[in-house]
Amino acid sequence: MTEPRLGTEARPLRVAVVGSGPSGFYAAEHLHRQHELVVQVDMFDRLPTPFGLVRGGVAPDHQNIKAVTRVYDKIAAHPEFRFYGNIEFGRELTHDDLRAYYHAVIYAVGARTDKRLGIPKEYLPGSHSASEFVGWYNAHPDFRSLTFDFSGTSAIVVGNGNVAMDLARILLVPVDDLRRTDIAEHALRALSNSNIREVTILGRRGPAEAAFTTKELRELGHLPDCDVVVDPADLDFEAAPDAEYSKATQANLDVLREYAQRPPTGARRRVILRFLRSPVAIVGEDRVRGVVVAENELFRSDDGTVRARMTERSDVLDTDLVFRAIGYQGMPLMGIPFDAARGVIPNDHGRVMDPTTGAPVAAEYVVGWIKRGPRGIIGTNKPDSQETVDSLLEDLRAGMFEAQEVPGRAVLERLLGERRRDFVSYDDWQMIDMLEQERGRKAGERPRVKFSRIEDMLIALAEKKLRDREAEGPPESPA
Ligand code: NAP
Repeated sequence: MTEPRLGTEARPLRVAVVGSGPSGFYAAEHLHRQHELVVQVDMFDRLPTPFGLVRGGVAPDHQNIKAVTRVYDKIAAHPEFRFYGNIEFGRELTHDDLRAYYHAVIYAVGARTDKRLGIPKEYLPGSHSASEFVGWYNAHPDFRSLTFDFSGTSAIVVGNGNVAMDLARILLVPVDDLRRTDIAEHALRALSNSNIREVTILGRRGPAEAAFTTKELRELGHLPDCDVVVDPADLDFEAAPDAEYSKATQANLDVLREYAQRPPTGARRRVILRFLRSPVAIVGEDRVRGVVVAENELFRSDDGTVRARMTERSDVLDTDLVFRAIGYQGMPLMGIPFDAARGVIPNDHGRVMDPTTGAPVAAEYVVGWIKRGPRGIIGTNKPDSQETVDSLLEDLRAGMFEAQEVPGRAVLERLLGERRRDFVSYDDWQMIDMLEQERGRKAGERPRVKFSRIEDMLIALAEKKLRDREAEGPPESPA
């Protein structure tokens, strides 16, 4: 008897997606849009909660951006989709398991750590990476126990991307505005007692090379009781004769020019944007006391890009608090090729490539930041994930997974249950979601109060299930 074709009711194509951020969900969506195929998508996350940076990265005062999770709920509602939360790759689920249980695997693990500045005393207490601060204020369980000292009046944010903008806003926005968001309880408490009045954002290149977007730049100008300070001299540059600024850059320059002309209003807080400045060392013995900042000049490198190089001129800026927002960095996964220089899994249109043979690794794919590096907004992931899934479908049509026999879901779930009794399904997550929203209502019109400890969410979930079972009454006895 011949085997039924792969991708049919009798023999569904089984695909694992490791990671449940936007790129993972868009990959699942595109797989399920293949109406001629039966595809079972199993999505794993080491946390009991899905959505990656939408939950743990997007700033709490950007609730409208977080609304994209409604799209992910729809994707998850597909009958052939399953979520397995609280399952960590490399612990409860190994590379070998994935190869044995699935026809294909898509890694959607993002970029988990930060780039290094590589300056003396970079890690002195009081100097924090963006991912620590962002994770902390977003109630990510990995960062909940960190502490930040807001007793000083100033902070320095290094970097000119949108993450730097997020950090500056969260440090300066009136705490009453944050009370209406889903910011972590511990962050709300700590920021209520913050003395920070001045945040200086340092860009190593000029205003025309900044990575932040105009919307985020404008938001700084709308912070209540806060002046924005831009030195007009920083904008007094001759554009290189061959420089053709994009519309986005022009828009940034227009906003910066308007800021440079604003007279001080005597506001209680201020945010200062300084360009052509790089930190060269952190100052302090047992904790941060300041930053040595060098002045830079720009030059055009051989590859045509505008780069910064340090001059002899430098200054010391006093502060107790430094945030390094200079970009995220991907981390290697056990058993998967890794390009350490770029912090990505090497790939060709999403097919994982083995650098030693130069050939694709059979049935392994990659999407999102671990595929292309930590760039782009949430929506950038949609075409990126579609490209990868198209590569996968091409390989399927070429018969590359036909020979592989894999066990069904029941067998997988038995294995997961043996390794972690309390793995979390999408229904379970939706109960956690409801409980968080309920806590938000009780706290007074907050969108949610997040659980920041994994044990707390699992206990609350178990109690909720028990209450629901009790409310249903005893099961009917067989007649
Ligand atoms: P990013 O956009 O890549 O910006 C990183 C910044 O750090 C750049 O200004 C870069 O300068 C600077 N930098 C890098 N190395 C440095 C060094 N050694 N010294 C000094 N400065 C250094 O990264 P990001 O801010 O982490 O954001 C990541 C992605 O998420 C971006 O695509 C961003 O747009 C997106 N995001 C979007 C939002 C939103 O839509 N609201 C919010 C947050 C993040 P150079 O340009 O000179 O390299």
